[in-house]
Amino acid sequence: MAKYLTLDELDEALTHLRSEYRVLAPAYEHFGGRFAHTDNLVYQDIEQAADIVWQEKSHFSPNEVVLPVTQTLFHFHGDEIIQPSDNIKPILLFARSCDIHAFERLDHMYLKNGKNRDWYYDRLRKKVKIVLLECESSFENCFCVSMGTNKTDNYAAAVRFDDNGMAITIKDPSLESYFDLLGADQDFEPSFVTSNPVKVRTPDQVCDDPDKIRRILTGNPVWQEYDKRCIGCGRCTTSCPTCTCYSVFDISYNTEARIGERRRQQASCMTGNFTDMAGGHSFREKTGDRLRYRALHKVNDYKARQGTDHMCVGCGRCDDRCPHYISFSNIINKMSDVVESAMNSVALEQQHD
Ligand code: SF4
Ligand code: SF4
Repeated sequence: MAKYLTLDELDEALTHLRSEYRVLAPAYEHFGGRFAHTDNLVYQDIEQAADIVWQEKSHFSPNEVVLPVTQTLFHFHGDEIIQPSDNIKPILLFARSCDIHAFERLDHMYLKNGKNRDWYYDRLRKKVKIVLLECESSFENCFCVSMGTNKTDNYAAAVRFDDNGMAITIKDPSLESYFDLLGADQDFEPSFVTSNPVKVRTPDQVCDDPDKIRRILTGNPVWQEYDKRCIGCGRCTTSCPTCTCYSVFDISYNTEARIGERRRQQASCMTGNFTDMAGGHSFREKTGDRLRYRALHKVNDYKARQGTDHMCVGCGRCDDRCPHYISFSNIINKMSDVVESAMNSVALEQQHD
């Protein structure tokens, strides 16, 4: 089914949908931006079509829908453990192609990485139906084409907004009834961005051995510049759709520590204390080392372990958010240059032997 709906008709459809679903899409959090008098663009519950901001890239990703920033795992009361309610409303999530690919990365990490499926992730993820939000053109700092995430057919419906309304094509029959009596029939297939101004070359394009890539880049002086430039604020990771780390801690409600809850909270490998261990030991104290760890995870180690795609989907949000203008796309290109140059040096030495 494919249709065109005016904004009023879309409001009507949203009213029907909201009786069954939480509808989540990028919307302004007014005056919540990082500078004074600026808005934040984040995923929020949508009540009317006019709230959906389709013209810009969201500042934060939709991964909070399945990985809440803070999540109660269970309550404890003496010896009794109480799990949080499983009564969760289905979710209709408007997401761009790169973010849909990011969900596939999250699925790998939480459902296929090791023997256990993460129960908390699984129960939320099962509730999500994705509506592809078409990108008419590339946004600033995006490099989705280089990362192969610019296209997808993994969606229940796809939409294209304009100032007057929205074209929609629906693949999931269970969504059709919400649109049956609304709008006008109109053919629509989403189009995809085919080129970004920012392009990257990943290290595996110059060397097919991830161990060798790791060896060349670990201890390389290329990271030293970031010891000074990077302040370890973690903004790059909080905005990233594919970051998956969390810390777990207990909060007690009384002085005996017998009543309380266990929570997990998103954590960042870029901030201090992330690697703190018993006995006061810590790794990667320099921010350049943390950046090396994160970069290798995003464009080498994850792929080597999962055997699929790179973890980074090229959304460019880390570049958008870094207060010190550190560009991750530049870092990826630098990594490949370093690896290529090391490989060429070895080849040259072998020729001379
Ligand atoms: S590392 Fe940066 S560009 Fe890659 S997915 Fe994360 S935020 Fe997007
Ligand atoms: S956002 Fe920039 S300064 Fe902050 S931790 Fe990330 S790379 Fe470093």
